[in-house]
Amino acid sequence: MSEKADLAIRGAIVVSDGAYARDILIHDGRISALVEAGAASAQREIDARGLLALPGVVDAHVHFNEPGREDWEGWSSGSRAAAAGGTTTVLDMPLNSIPPVLDGTSFDMKKAAAENGSIVDFGLWGGLVDADPGSLRELGERGAVGVKAFLCDSGVAEFPALQEQDLVPALRAAAQAGLVVALHCEDDALVREATARVRGEERHDAAAWVRSRPPLVEVRAVAAACAAAREAGARIHIVHVSAMEALGAIGAARDMGTDVTAETCPHYLTFDQDDLARQGAALKCAPPIRDARNRAGLWRALMQGKIDFVASDHSPCPADLKESADMFAAWGGIAGAQSLLSAVFSGVATHAEGTLDVRKVAGFVVWRLAARPAKRFGLWPRKGAIAQGSDADIVLFDPEREWKLDGEGSRTRGIDPYVGRSFRGKVVRTLVGGRTVYNERETVTNPARGRFIPREEVAEG
Ligand SMILES: [Zn+2]
Repeated sequence: MSEKADLAIRGAIVVSDGAYARDILIHDGRISALVEAGAASAQREIDARGLLALPGVVDAHVHFNEPGREDWEGWSSGSRAAAAGGTTTVLDMPLNSIPPVLDGTSFDMKKAAAENGSIVDFGLWGGLVDADPGSLRELGERGAVGVKAFLCDSGVAEFPALQEQDLVPALRAAAQAGLVVALHCEDDALVREATARVRGEERHDAAAWVRSRPPLVEVRAVAAACAAAREAGARIHIVHVSAMEALGAIGAARDMGTDVTAETCPHYLTFDQDDLARQGAALKCAPPIRDARNRAGLWRALMQGKIDFVASDHSPCPADLKESADMFAAWGGIAGAQSLLSAVFSGVATHAEGTLDVRKVAGFVVWRLAARPAKRFGLWPRKGAIAQGSDADIVLFDPEREWKLDGEGSRTRGIDPYVGRSFRGKVVRTLVGGRTVYNERETVTNPARGRFIPREEVAEG
């Protein structure tokens, strides 16, 4: 170490590739060294004794809605919610901002809005609405982490679904542009049929909403997407898997060598149909939250690695869009960016009770929330690791703390369905590029400005 470090984080157990006591030295926003306790000096120090130091969470799926619908959330409040929850990099979806990110110009607009408002680093998804190679080239050249497509109605008019006959050509075009395709997998025809049937009974309650999108809707779309990816030689990522049955199709595709990964979301792991009945439209999303048995199955699948990682699908809206008593009329989307890490840590700790120690729980969580998504979307090892040369994106985390999220602590502008929930494990402080963006002990007045992180490498499976 020729140059003196700007900052030393002392006394924490570093959980990244294993778990060990080290002081973390930071210089110029990057981790310059991991050293034995007290082994080097620095201009400033953070005392982190009794805490875990985790790589910042890479949340692969958020909707911050700016430009265009910044009153729904926006980069400023959305990134503050993320930072308070230990997320240091978000990957923002091409909708529901206006314009949606479908080409180079709209990508540049989103990037400018994020650079202006975000306090965490960010990558950007583009949209895939047809097989046009020109727009894919523009998105790829700009460093998009991938492109997103819908196999059913997207919920917003300006982002059309991919037509069935376009699926294979569009996947082929994305593969040629070197882009992973994220797919919202619900079968459009089955959704329409089931919705018409339920609506015909004049039902509009939460249970009716769930019945309008049964597991078959997901299973059929996931199976079709996997088969199409194989046909097209494409790499795909299935977003927000909610139905246990859909995992069978993904497993079979992997066995056949298809490059497919899957995420689930904290709301499918935290809530069940009873919560949905109680909380109503606050927990409306598509595909829907299912029953307790399905939820338990998703946990098992996550623990077994059948689900690759967890992302928030943070998608809040103004409160009045959630106020309708008609579940079919209310906005579908859940605010979860802030609770992602604590919800997953709490659940893994519970499911591993008696068999794993807290460092192993943290190691598992770090792999599923930081390292794995960073690798999949070409951000590794700059993101997702506490290692020499990586960005100094670090979460100081108290694994033993039991706490409850209250309304004041929630940072989202939307309705936060996690308010009132109890968690085990609390974010104490979050740093992005060596700068504090969240500190539970004091208000951060001069946080970092979030930087755009381009996809650097060809993503891996
Ligand atoms: Zn989404």
